[in-house]
Amino acid sequence: MRIIDTHSHIYSEEFDNDIDDVIERSKQAGVEKILLPNIDVESLGRLHAISDQYKGYCIPMMGLHPTSVGEDWKEQLDLIKQQFSERSYIAVGEIGLDLYWDKTYEKEQRLIFEEQLCWSIEYNLPVAIHSRDAIFQCIECIRNVGADRLRGVFHSFGGSEEELEKILSLGNFLLGINGVVTFKNSTLSTILRKTDLNHIIIETDAPYLAPVPYRGKRNESSYTVKVVEKLAEIYETTLEEVGQITTQNAAELFSLQNI
Ligand SMILES: [Zn+2]
Repeated sequence: MRIIDTHSHIYSEEFDNDIDDVIERSKQAGVEKILLPNIDVESLGRLHAISDQYKGYCIPMMGLHPTSVGEDWKEQLDLIKQQFSERSYIAVGEIGLDLYWDKTYEKEQRLIFEEQLCWSIEYNLPVAIHSRDAIFQCIECIRNVGADRLRGVFHSFGGSEEELEKILSLGNFLLGINGVVTFKNSTLSTILRKTDLNHIIIETDAPYLAPVPYRGKRNESSYTVKVVEKLAEIYETTLEEVGQITTQNAAELFSLQNI
């Protein structure tokens, strides 16, 4: 089975003790690549270290996460932007809006999100979007900058049918699906039946959101198999087909054939 974990924070300290084993299990499960979104200036060192250690397998993105937007946002944003002239990245991410944890910097979050959307046009890269209680606001920002010039993924999609429709109507945006789809109380499987596999890519969001039966434990890329199984059930197809289509979607969005 072919899988690409399109959103994983395995560079975080939760993996310090057994990262080699985590990568080995991931390869054995059929995961061909793991894409690593950045968070902020503090996470740069770890992100780059893992990307160098597993070159070509763990591939970095670059961006400033909305929950890291605080008083020092200007300095952070400058330093993050600088990274693009020093290395190559597969996407601008993760970027977006988070109105769930804290609305203090809502205005700044929007400004910074739109600025980073412009970078993705400047560097011709896709974007990985983090949206919490803010899908419509994110869509507004995307339209402000230019939906036809942008492409990307709404990572960890867990929204409503209306939100799904609005995202897909942007034209070039996919849904990142993770362990949440396996949760018993999740309505996501019903909502996903309104679309098809052509709009879906797989992710972990490790170390968070481990699928059933690992729910509550540390998540890792090999667990994406459980997400593939659930999608096969939803779309009444084989694991191989889910793997094939979602891998193809991810390869196209992130231009993985060039890696
Ligand atoms: Zn993330």
